[in-house]
Amino acid sequence: MSASTLVIQTAFLGDVVLTTPLLSALAAEHGPVDVVTTALAAPLLETHPAVVQVIPYDKRGRDRGWTGLRRLGRQLEASQYARAYMPHRSLRTAALALLARIPIRIGFSGSWSFLYTEGRPKPQMGHETDRLLALANGAMGVYRPQLRPRTEDETVAGELGIDGPFVALAPGSIWGSKRWPYYAELATRLAERIGVVIVGSADDADLGNEIQGAAEGGTGRQRIVNACGRLSLRQSAALIGRAELLVTNDSAPLHLATAMGTPIVALFGPTVTEFGFGPLRPGDVVLGMDGLLCRPCSPHGPPECPLGHHRCMRDLTAVAVVRAIEDMGALRRRN
Ligand code: SF4
Repeated sequence: MSASTLVIQTAFLGDVVLTTPLLSALAAEHGPVDVVTTALAAPLLETHPAVVQVIPYDKRGRDRGWTGLRRLGRQLEASQYARAYMPHRSLRTAALALLARIPIRIGFSGSWSFLYTEGRPKPQMGHETDRLLALANGAMGVYRPQLRPRTEDETVAGELGIDGPFVALAPGSIWGSKRWPYYAELATRLAERIGVVIVGSADDADLGNEIQGAAEGGTGRQRIVNACGRLSLRQSAALIGRAELLVTNDSAPLHLATAMGTPIVALFGPTVTEFGFGPLRPGDVVLGMDGLLCRPCSPHGPPECPLGHHRCMRDLTAVAVVRAIEDMGALRRRN
């Protein structure tokens, strides 16, 4: 049984997590919704309380090209949706709603909004969560990101071999210049005092092994586990939800922690929170090199520092990060 409202969000994983408040707002307005999202993000939304069903769009695999898009359009047309919401400004998204013959198509004004029946201005300021909520009526500031791992996800996350409290570290990022280079030193310092779990995808496994190896070479009394590539996304969310706090770059795990209610120490290098993708909860901490004139240097963070020195990250010390963690109380309670 399909919902009457379809949301199409096929952007990056973090964007999908930040769309969950919009799903809640639209569900309150129209009833629970169906969602088209990437094959990667689909399992995260399957358990969301505002969602009836998730339709994966494998835009780089099975559904690639216009043939795949038309096939998915026909599949969606059979569900006879009354309306579609499109928080991601892209030709593929706009075309998909049109191909599915959905009579009311609402998205943000921009290049492809001539394909919508209603284009709304996207706010320039504020957190991305609230900017996306501008597509719903009167919902800005009301809803927050939320994920609901299943009990079995919690069970797997709990069987990683880490006993007692731990800090989670998310050292990866698609964009190289966003990666803080001192996670190994941080893990070594933390492992003296608390368990450490490294989270990330299979692509981060080697980096996780390096960090784990360095920390195990120290005098750490606590256990350190590299979970990169060992968990599904929902299991990773469950793991982050169990952590005392998460230390992360400006990347998707930050938003997973926000959605799971886990305290955050976020390390921002080439980007800044004014772009709208920082932590949302009071008490979360953002560290960045204020006063560095080249910062910010790009909306996403370039693959490498264009100036070669990468001071926005290299000047941010592990000692400063440990101090921030101490100030949040995660270590002090146990010493
Ligand atoms: S140019 Fe500046 S802000 Fe950009 S990556 Fe290099 S140090 Fe960081």
